[in-house]
Amino acid sequence: MGCSLAFYLSRAGRSVTVIDRGRIGQGATAACAGGIRAQFSTEINIRLGIEAKRLLAQFAQVTGQTADFRPVGYLFLLTTDEERSRFHDALQVQRRCGLDDVVELEPAEAGAMVAGLRMDDLSGATFCPSDGLAGPNEVTYGFANAARRQGAVILENAPVEAFLTSGGSVSGVRTSAGEIECPQTVICAGPWSASVGALLGLQLPIVPSPRQVFVSEPFAGIRRQSPMTIDFHTSFYFHPEGEGVLFGMSDPATPPGDDTRVDWSFLDRITSVAERRWPPLLDARVKTAWAGLYENTPDFQPLIGPLQPGLWIAAGFSGHGFMMAPVLGRWLAVWMLDGAPPGDLGAFAPSRFAAGAAVEPERNVV
Ligand SMILES: Cc1cc2nc3c(=O)[nH]c(=O)nc-3n(C[C@H](O)[C@H](O)[C@H](O)COP(=O)(O)OP(=O)(O)OC[C@H]3O[C@@H](n4cnc5c(N)ncnc54)[C@H](O)[C@@H]3O)c2cc1C
Repeated sequence: MGCSLAFYLSRAGRSVTVIDRGRIGQGATAACAGGIRAQFSTEINIRLGIEAKRLLAQFAQVTGQTADFRPVGYLFLLTTDEERSRFHDALQVQRRCGLDDVVELEPAEAGAMVAGLRMDDLSGATFCPSDGLAGPNEVTYGFANAARRQGAVILENAPVEAFLTSGGSVSGVRTSAGEIECPQTVICAGPWSASVGALLGLQLPIVPSPRQVFVSEPFAGIRRQSPMTIDFHTSFYFHPEGEGVLFGMSDPATPPGDDTRVDWSFLDRITSVAERRWPPLLDARVKTAWAGLYENTPDFQPLIGPLQPGLWIAAGFSGHGFMMAPVLGRWLAVWMLDGAPPGDLGAFAPSRFAAGAAVEPERNVV
């Protein structure tokens, strides 16, 4: 998020510094599955997803580096009638927003797309061929390198330790490498955003939540062009990764926290789900695993906008920030420079929880 924003601000001729406590791209972004989709339930997320695909398709022209965007499609497998009906309703909203290639499938049609899928208990599926995958590293460094060429500074290994204030405004930050004065500061510290906000006494409703990811050795059981496949009922997902398969699952019972140690016992939990949904995975040999952090908010929507004079936030993406950041970096830059974003970001107002506003949560969360 920080590198995307720095790219758009520096492209507009502004002086900008990205500050990271470690190396850029090594936070939540490094752990991410790379999924890019417009199959959401809320209008704003559908529109952002459509725009993200457009931007990533022309990323090389814009930044000079590839985003490695591969539109292999997203296949959502639905089990209960309630899930099928919910996705049917979401699809009507998606079509209204201009996502014209998303379709509903019968279980047998979904089965024909992924060899070895078990469909006996499925109620249906949805598929959008223009959804897909991109490279988290490619996108982060594509933005960062282009931002540097435009004059942005990327300051690494410099944790923010405090905010500077002057006359009731945030006027910069103190880092381990010294103080940086700036008229506008943006908190985009991913899952650590609440702890950064706490330096100023803020209580940001962003909670880190660990997720386990596994990647196999080269595996003949998946085609390179297989879609990102998500068993929505269990959240078990998999997609081709190099010559192997990347897979994971979320677990509502996982307590919040910032523990990124790999939990190998979780592999057994995934395997028992895969045995029922996609048995070929049982023949794959796991090559590597990692754990990363989601950054969840109560309605699974981010906080984007001004927090107080001199301070903004762009965080709390609830597992969708990789695909949102290319668009929101541009929109937030326009907002900071021109006084209004180019699209309606009211659903992401940082004040919405405190104000007790009725918010529509994103329901297609994996
Ligand atoms: C397993 C997993 C799978 C995911 N899959 C997808 C997916 O398929 N598609 C998708 O769109 N999203 C996905 N996500 C979510 C996505 O990874 C995040 O939403 C996104 O990467 C957030 O980007 P960010 O720049 O806000 O945060 P980060 O990438 O975490 O960057 C924040 C940076 O802030 C720095 N920082 C923290 N504290 C400080 C401090 N005090 N001072 C200075 N710097 C600090 C960190 O070092 C870090 O580099 C997934 C996440 C996980 C964990």
